[in-house]
Amino acid sequence: MTVKLYWNDAYLKEFDSVVEKVEGNRVVLRETVFYPTGGGVMNDTGMLTVNGVGCRVADVSREGDVIFHHLEGIPQMKAGDSAHGTIDWDRRYSLMRYHTAVHLMDGVVERKYQAGGITGGQIFPDRARIDFAMTGLNREMVQKIIDEANAAGREGHNVLAKNLTKEEALARPNLARTEPGREMMKGMDSVRVVEIEGIDMQMDGGLHVANTKEIGKITLNGFENKGKNSKRIEIKLE
Ligand SMILES: [Zn+2]
Repeated sequence: MTVKLYWNDAYLKEFDSVVEKVEGNRVVLRETVFYPTGGGVMNDTGMLTVNGVGCRVADVSREGDVIFHHLEGIPQMKAGDSAHGTIDWDRRYSLMRYHTAVHLMDGVVERKYQAGGITGGQIFPDRARIDFAMTGLNREMVQKIIDEANAAGREGHNVLAKNLTKEEALARPNLARTEPGREMMKGMDSVRVVEIEGIDMQMDGGLHVANTKEIGKITLNGFENKGKNSKRIEIKLE
């Protein structure tokens, strides 16, 4: 199991660790700050320095509880070597801002429009895609939702991650927003949730800014009609 330092502190930019395993160009460390692709969010990138040699971390993936750092080139290292990792902070911080922006919009939709109105999201360093399943949703309504999310964001709500017991989690309706999420939750002893105080709480394994003021202004960059009850939008942050 890789210790996930990013869950203790999403603002950690570098860390010391030990190489546990090398498999081709993939390296497993005892602990890491590198976030793997998952939950609709792209992976971190950065540098891993071992034995005085720096290697680019081009991709990060997760298999069960183990995180794999995919290096550019063949790693000159072995199990037991000390390692120092540094993530590309600008990219990560941007991913965090977009991720919280999507939750903020989800919170607005859940509370004021339609529970389950947002069915998915994909977060990139320079944009986010959001899928809606709302009857009659048009560009004007999306703009209104964005305006309301921006107003809520400017109020400066704290964003916290915490663990709920299974009982606490099951007692809260709509904590998991997707069918696979609801299935997954049934098998968990404790459920990590991300709360935007006063706005939204949902099951989430991702990383977020500490306060909604850090998001900045959300703008609508695209509106795609994918069917009667299926719309996809793209947002950008200023
Ligand atoms: Zn999320």
